[in-house]
Amino acid sequence: IWQTTLKKLEKNISPQNFSTWIKPINFISITDDQVNLEVPNKFIKGWIKDNYQKVIEEAISDIGTVNYRISISINDNPEIREKPQPEKQEKTEIETNKKNLSLKGNDQFSNINKKYTFESFVSGPSNQFAHAAAMAVANNPATTYNPLFIYGGVGLGKTHIVHAIGNEILNKNNNLKICYYSSEKFTNELINSLRHAKMDEFRNKFRSIDVLLIDDIQFIAGKKSTQEEFFHTFNALYESHKQIVVTSDKFPKEIPDLEERLRSRFEWGLIADIQAPDIETKQAILKMKADQNNIELPEDVSFFLANSVISNVRELEGYLIRIGAFSSLTSTPINLEMAKNILKDIIIEQNKEITVENIQKTVATHYQIKTSDLKSSKRLKTLVLPRQVAMYISRKLTSSSYPEIGTKFGGKDHSTIIHAIKKIEKNLEEDLQLRTTVEKLINSIKP
Ligand code: ADP
Ligand code: MG
Repeated sequence: IWQTTLKKLEKNISPQNFSTWIKPINFISITDDQVNLEVPNKFIKGWIKDNYQKVIEEAISDIGTVNYRISISINDNPEIREKPQPEKQEKTEIETNKKNLSLKGNDQFSNINKKYTFESFVSGPSNQFAHAAAMAVANNPATTYNPLFIYGGVGLGKTHIVHAIGNEILNKNNNLKICYYSSEKFTNELINSLRHAKMDEFRNKFRSIDVLLIDDIQFIAGKKSTQEEFFHTFNALYESHKQIVVTSDKFPKEIPDLEERLRSRFEWGLIADIQAPDIETKQAILKMKADQNNIELPEDVSFFLANSVISNVRELEGYLIRIGAFSSLTSTPINLEMAKNILKDIIIEQNKEITVENIQKTVATHYQIKTSDLKSSKRLKTLVLPRQVAMYISRKLTSSSYPEIGTKFGGKDHSTIIHAIKKIEKNLEEDLQLRTTVEKLINSIKP
């Protein structure tokens, strides 16, 4: 019954919305007139209740003669919740690769995802170094940095950059054999070869590669035979001057249970890190993703998203897609209120209430300074303005008195606060840019 319902729903709901909201639903059971469904989180549950409950109930009831009601529960078992995602991603990667097959003969086994290119990668201070190193490697494999070791937190673009190297080399059409492997896939293939006594094949395959891209190497930590084999693969490639690129969520020294000899090899070449993106980079990424997905993203919403605590780009992108889905679903252009609604959980976490501390956090993040600098008395120009802005917003949005604000700004007396606020008020009249910034900050702090 659920499969039939899905087919019906698929006809009536746009593909994007269908895969965002309906696909994650799990069918659990059916009783007299109640259909029990399960979704991965509170967010999707709320969304379905608000937008799809009726549609789903009608679709189910249509099939039989009973008027069904649906009951949605949340499956917060992290095992089940987390697992399907990587699988799903892998599937789409395989699908993309199938398409690649017909495009290029050379990269039959390359596993390169065409979507992740240098063109679609936004470079900013947070990833400049890794980006430049990756470009250098792509332009001159095995002659610049070998191995190239890229490390950075989850969702910050490591996989994207590695595929970009692969795509760039493929584009140059120089008949190099490129292979992208997650370290899990490397391990699986190794185990399979061991099981079927095909180790020679396995070794030959890897040793004939010109550029080996290994993603998330931290996963081979603790796996002895995989490390052993990878060590030999590494040596064979390295000695025949082949390019090796490795990514990890940790610095080589910080990967636990990694054999010392592997660790030291990772340190032979260049180690480049990717940091969390700053606000401008986040905005540029949002713009790129919005364009790619045909989402009309107003500047104040982009500012709001970029100023949120989200630093994981994948997560940021997820919210953008949700906002886009909501907008198309309700046929309303994206606006700030809509975005705030969709990020409700995050904003509540971010500023439970409007306090001077939360304002300081937001202002400091925006100007890329430390909150402690807002409280200090340093007279640096780059600190004075944010400090005065934070004082001004604190006075405007909280009921704190001047002395209270003074205390929270490192024990300044109330005349300093009054002076700061007057100064900002005056500047706001003359300085359009400041006015826009302060307005946007206030809008993003207000619930
Ligand atoms: P990681 O492998 O570090 O966990 P990914 O490479 O999978 O992260 O990136 C997660 C998502 O964020 C991808 O969709 C990727 O395209 C996007 N992304 C990350 N950084 C950037 C960037 N600088 N420019 C454009 N997209 C980015
Ligand atoms: Mg990755």
